Amino acid sequence: MHEVLIIGGGPAGLTAGMYCRMRKMSALVVDSGRVGGQLVSVYGDKPVHDWPGVHDIIANELAQRLIDHAKALEVEMTGNQKVEEVTSGGEAGFDVVARDVVTKEERRHRASSLIVAIGGGAFEPRKLKVPGEDGLSEEALTYRMPDKAKVAGKKVVVVGGGDSGLESAQAAHEAGAKVTMIQAMDRFTGMESNIDLVNRMEIPRHFSTRVRQIDAEGGRIQAVWAATKGVSDPMRLECDYLVVNIGAAPNLDAVRSWGIEVESNLIKVDCSMRTSVEGVFACGDIVTYEGKYKLLLTAASEGCVAAQSAYLHVRKPQRLTMTDLWT
Ligand SMILES: Cc1cc2nc3c(=O)[nH]c(=O)nc-3n(C[C@H](O)[C@H](O)[C@H](O)COP(=O)(O)OP(=O)(O)OC[C@H]3O[C@@H](n4cnc5c(N)ncnc54)[C@H](O)[C@@H]3O)c2cc1C
Repeated sequence: MHEVLIIGGGPAGLTAGMYCRMRKMSALVVDSGRVGGQLVSVYGDKPVHDWPGVHDIIANELAQRLIDHAKALEVEMTGNQKVEEVTSGGEAGFDVVARDVVTKEERRHRASSLIVAIGGGAFEPRKLKVPGEDGLSEEALTYRMPDKAKVAGKKVVVVGGGDSGLESAQAAHEAGAKVTMIQAMDRFTGMESNIDLVNRMEIPRHFSTRVRQIDAEGGRIQAVWAATKGVSDPMRLECDYLVVNIGAAPNLDAVRSWGIEVESNLIKVDCSMRTSVEGVFACGDIVTYEGKYKLLLTAASEGCVAAQSAYLHVRKPQRLTMTDLWT
């Protein structure tokens, strides 16, 4: 039995684990994939420029530093275990059923409190839903950031003009690909610093444009057909690798089945990261509250708050002091 079980080992869950350990609570992080979250599973090669105190750091390395830090504080961690069921036994705590994603075996855990930090794991990437899209593998199309080795020297079309699309375009350009961007809106919607970089790289772009069809044969893409608003004929863009970064659709059926209140497909929390279920806290990309901003830094900060709330729930101290955290 752990005092805190943390579902999800991204920046939110790992930081929650660290702060649990600073309070000397036993903490177990369970992740359905690789511990590290989106830093390793979505954009491992990308530089991160907004982690305070570090001018830039490659995402994989930042993840490794977070993992090492959590290990040093003796946070228990396990990967490849997807949490499927959560049941509350009232005062007795929570029963958690996870499944080993490799062996399919069931793993059971018990904890006095839970922190849900499943981030983007509950999100499925939005598809273009155009002819030719189905059945293409990661060798021809990705909904994540492209693997540099897969796009080097290729003709790459990046669909999406938010931060993910802008960063994918930069990564492919840096890998030596010939990149073209397609954006449904009449402008990019990402951060100004990302737009500046894409402008400096002089990456060609088509605004107010949507993909209509993908020409592919034998699992390889030859071209993408796209239509621009106000232009009668669609254009044919030569392409041998397609990157689609047009957002993700959340699927919170599992969270709902755990009895946790969901709002706009995200977990509703108060400023102490409390959910609608007593003893269950949540943090990171999966939560919503007024002013929520999805970033590494906010995920980590919310992880810290969730850990403090779990501490109050489990240990019920007469007074909350910060002294033991710093000494
Ligand atoms: C392309 C891209 C670039 C980005 N660049 C930046 C950047 O430069 N700076 C920045 O601040 N932010 C950036 N972000 C956002 C940042 O990555 C997220 O805000 C952050 O990862 C959220 O952390 P998290 O811990 O909430 O979730 P995640 O990182 O998504 O981690 C959640 C973890 O939960 C696990 N999980 C999910 N479901 C289950 C389950 N049922 N059981 C067990 N485990 C589960 C997943 O496997 C995953 O490891 C970027 C995002 C993208 C997509």
